[in-house]
Amino acid sequence: MTIQEVQTLLDRLPRQILCSRDTPLTRMERLEQQIKAGSLYIKRDDLNGVGPGGNKVRPLEYLLGEARARSSDVIIASGQDNSNLCSIAASACCRLGMRCILVHNSKKPDQLSGNALLNALSQVEEHYIGSVSEKERNEYVDLLKIKLKQDGKTPYVIENGASTVHGAVGYLHLPMELMRQREDESAPITDLFVPGGNGGLAAGIVFGTALLNHPFNVHVITVEHTGEKLEQIIDSLTKGMEQYLGISLPVPVQSVMTVHGGYRGEGWGISTKESDHMISLLAREEGIFLEPVYTSKTLWGMCDLLHRGEVKSRGACMIHSGGFASLFYRNLISESFH
Ligand SMILES: *Cc1c(COP(=O)(O)O)cnc(C)c1O
Repeated sequence: MTIQEVQTLLDRLPRQILCSRDTPLTRMERLEQQIKAGSLYIKRDDLNGVGPGGNKVRPLEYLLGEARARSSDVIIASGQDNSNLCSIAASACCRLGMRCILVHNSKKPDQLSGNALLNALSQVEEHYIGSVSEKERNEYVDLLKIKLKQDGKTPYVIENGASTVHGAVGYLHLPMELMRQREDESAPITDLFVPGGNGGLAAGIVFGTALLNHPFNVHVITVEHTGEKLEQIIDSLTKGMEQYLGISLPVPVQSVMTVHGGYRGEGWGISTKESDHMISLLAREEGIFLEPVYTSKTLWGMCDLLHRGEVKSRGACMIHSGGFASLFYRNLISESFH
C-alpha cells in the first residue's frame, strides 16, 4: 500500500488528534564517531507535546477517539505509581477536557516524584489500592466501572497499558512519517530499532512497515519478556489488527521484523550496567536524555548489534519513546552513578 492508502484506511477510525506534526528526526553525528557503524538517527517521538511526551500518545489518539465516539464521560487508566501510561493518559485527558481516574496498584508514595508528581499536578482523581497483582487491580477497575455506571456515567477503560489492537493502530503513523522524512531529509535509513514491552508499539510499527511494502527492517529490543514470548504477542496483536482493519498484510510480519531478546537484563525496570552507560553516553554526546526502562536498553541493543556487525545497516534509526519521568523514580538507576 502507499502512504495515502494507509492514511485512508486510518481515516475511517475515530481519532482525537493530540500531535498534529511529525516528530523530529535527528542525526547523531557525535554518537556516530563513537560507534563507527554508519549513519545513526533518532526519531524524537518523546517530543510530541503532551505532558512529559512520548510513548502512548499515538495509541491514546485512537483510544480516546473511540471513547468520545461512544460518548464516554470518564476515562479510567491503571498502572503502578510510576506508570508512563497513567501520566500521559492524565495529561491527554486534561488537554481534551475529559475526566480521568487513575488506579494504581501501589501504595501512595511518601514523597511525590517522577510520574506520581506529574499526576498530582494534573489533579486527576487517583486511587492507590496497595501493591496488589495486576489481576486484582483489574478486578478493582471492573467494580469501579460498575459503580460509575450505576451513577449514570459512561466510563471507558484503557486496557493493558494501551498495548491493545485498537491502540496499536496509532503507531501506523510512525513508519508513514519516517518514509516521508527519509525522502525529504535525504536520510539513508534502512533499519529501525524500537523497544518492546507489552508489544503495542512494536506491533503497530511492524504492521505499518509490512503494509507499506517493507521500507525498513524493524529490530525489536525486548525490555520485559523473552524474545520468543514477545514475538508471540506481536503476532497475535498484528492478527487482531488485520481483523480490526479488515485487510490482510501482503507479507508475514516475520519478514520485516527481528526480535532481539538479549538486552533486557533481569527484566522490566531493572537496568543493566550497559543500559545505564547509554543514558550518560547520550546525555554527554547528544544532549538527549533516555530513561532506564525502555529507551536505554533499546539504544544499547542498537549500538551492540551494529558494532558487532550482527546487523549490517546503511543507516540506523532508534525510536525515542519517551518515559522521561522514570529517570526520577526512586532508585531505578543502578548504583553506577553514585
Ligand atoms: C509503554 C512504553 C513503551 C512501549 O511499550 P509497549 O507496551 O511495548 O507498547 C515504550 N517506551 C516507553 C517509555 C513506554 O512507557
